Amino acid sequence: MSEMKPEGTLLLTEKPFVCVLHSNQKVKRCDHCFESGNLSNCSLCDKVAYCSSKCEAEAWSIHKFECPNMKRISPKIVPDAVRMIARIIYKLKYCKGWETKGFYGSGRNEFRKFGDLESHYEDLQHDRKRLQDFLTLSRVLEDFMGENESLPPPSELLTIYGRLLINSFNIMDISMNTIGSGLYLGTSRFDHSCVPNAVAVFSGTIISIRLTKPIAQFDWSKVFVSYIDVLQPTSKRISELNKGYYFECRCEVCLDVKQLEHMLSMSCPNPKCSEPIYIPEDVQDKVPECPKCTNCGEQVTQSRLDSYLNALDFIEAQLDRMKQTSYLDVCQTSLRKTEGLFHPYNVYQLQILDSAFSAAIDLNHWTEAKEYGKKLIVGQKKYYGDIHPLLGQTLLKIVKILLLEEFEEEDEREIVRSYIDLAEKIVKICYGEDHSLYKEHVMSLLDNLLSL
Ligand SMILES: [Zn+2]
Ligand SMILES: [Zn+2]
Ligand SMILES: [Zn+2]
Ligand SMILES: [Zn+2]
Repeated sequence: MSEMKPEGTLLLTEKPFVCVLHSNQKVKRCDHCFESGNLSNCSLCDKVAYCSSKCEAEAWSIHKFECPNMKRISPKIVPDAVRMIARIIYKLKYCKGWETKGFYGSGRNEFRKFGDLESHYEDLQHDRKRLQDFLTLSRVLEDFMGENESLPPPSELLTIYGRLLINSFNIMDISMNTIGSGLYLGTSRFDHSCVPNAVAVFSGTIISIRLTKPIAQFDWSKVFVSYIDVLQPTSKRISELNKGYYFECRCEVCLDVKQLEHMLSMSCPNPKCSEPIYIPEDVQDKVPECPKCTNCGEQVTQSRLDSYLNALDFIEAQLDRMKQTSYLDVCQTSLRKTEGLFHPYNVYQLQILDSAFSAAIDLNHWTEAKEYGKKLIVGQKKYYGDIHPLLGQTLLKIVKILLLEEFEEEDEREIVRSYIDLAEKIVKICYGEDHSLYKEHVMSLLDNLLSL
């Protein structure tokens, strides 16, 4: 029986089949529930820590297999991906892993088992880079699991590896930073779209899938989440999905030419015109003449086009450099180059703004952070839509910054009010009113605002 499900509907909550806390979080978070707090180490291996004896006891059902190995290979640290595969092997072999069911619906047959997960075995066999990674990983795995434990035969191991690559999720903390990875059986049934209607959020290691858009005549096959960050040009998204998940995305934005043109656009040289002017990625081979604005007819000069292309080259190189850490000075230089040249919808400029925003916050440069954040919101709304956790995060951060200041003008108070209203709506829909992001963070901002 199909029914209408509104936005904000909680579709499922699920514990991970297996999960691993990333090793860079080891001293900060409990290895079992991923919460931070007062931790004490496992007395046997000293390599993982727990927030309580309850977590330690619950974790033991799987940690007991890896604990002696962690101790044996010390001071070497087991890489996260290796630990994850080892955990899957233990789970399958000793904890009835093959029979474990992950339900996505309440129907008797609405579940998935580990064996149901897509492995893309054939594709993997033709993927030289991943096969190479797999061989390296297998060697480390063998060393880690020790000689008393026989590894599954290579073809089975490759299937496990494939299922992990295709189906695992990054587990994120309350500020959307990745802190671990998890494999969820029921959740694995959702396909990808670059304009998803559902979102995965976490509370510790527990995943929830919630609708961000209503679905008339609900059916599980109508639910889509996004596997990648969609704030990148169509060609890059398609290639990331192709290389990572072995499919050709045919979602509505991947087929939408206008969207692509906006993502790669220059601002019109005519200051009175706000129309984006599309500059194709291979403009040099493609357009013999400089493009013209389709709205006001203004011609882009060769020197303007050259400056744009130079700035684009520069930015792409900087973004590549800043994959791990954002540097404020690099972002500032980049943004000076794009100013007046790149349209506010240009995704490369938006990526730099995103880095600049976090770097400025890290350094307590509030005025700059505020300025970057406001521009970022424009782009996030365009490409993520009004209801998206990352837009919610940006809004919450800006509100926090604005609340640090005294409002001089009444309209600043209005702006804060409109930001917090949208943030509240987003968090309610994407996380729900029971989530700590709502109960603690959003509520305390609302209280602060009322007390001003
Ligand atoms: Zn814990
Ligand atoms: Zn241990
Ligand atoms: Zn797509
Ligand atoms: Zn124009």
